[in-house]
Amino acid sequence: MKLDAIDISILDAFLNDGRASLREVARETSLSTPTVSSHLSRLMKGRLIKKFIPLLNLDAIDQGIVSVVTLKVPPSEVNTMAKKLAGSEEVAGVYVTSGEHRIILKVHAESVHELEHFLSETVANRGCVVVASEILSSIVKDEQPVKLKSGVTLALKCDFCKGPISNNRPYNIKVGNSRYYFCCKTCRRTYLDKHRSRLEAAKSRATLSKIH
Ligand SMILES: [Zn+2]
Ligand SMILES: [Zn+2]
Repeated sequence: MKLDAIDISILDAFLNDGRASLREVARETSLSTPTVSSHLSRLMKGRLIKKFIPLLNLDAIDQGIVSVVTLKVPPSEVNTMAKKLAGSEEVAGVYVTSGEHRIILKVHAESVHELEHFLSETVANRGCVVVASEILSSIVKDEQPVKLKSGVTLALKCDFCKGPISNNRPYNIKVGNSRYYFCCKTCRRTYLDKHRSRLEAAKSRATLSKIH
């Protein structure tokens, strides 16, 4: 599925104010509220928008130190190691590079001592070699890229067969606040047949709560 101009304008509105309501975004983008709602649900289902959370400015607090650590990892273990390291709460970023089987980490620690402790206990014990470790003395810019263009492919997966969805207007079913997406008519129908009773129960609950 590709991002269209509507997706981009909705993204822009939410990047500007993540707390805006659907109605506010609809007004700002001159779209209807249901259009904003259905596009937003695709963007979230495709995990381009992972969640709505506050954007913290760590300059405002005494946050300890941030360091960039380069690791050398056995080639066969790069991906499993990257996932394991991502689970450590000190690790704010994990990047796998195309260079010599390396992983780059962004590590937040209270002190140099804590950083060294993390490197020896967590990293070295897992068979990685620390190639370099540098403490950042100032962070000039650290933001997500926000200039998105329409036409970019969004990896939306079929809720039935888990295959990619290529159609720009995917087959879907709306139940209450959630929406399910499908790659083709057959997947949609099979999903409906399989989950009919559950979907109908959810639908009547949603209708009831709308009335009351
Ligand atoms: Zn499918
Ligand atoms: Zn299909």
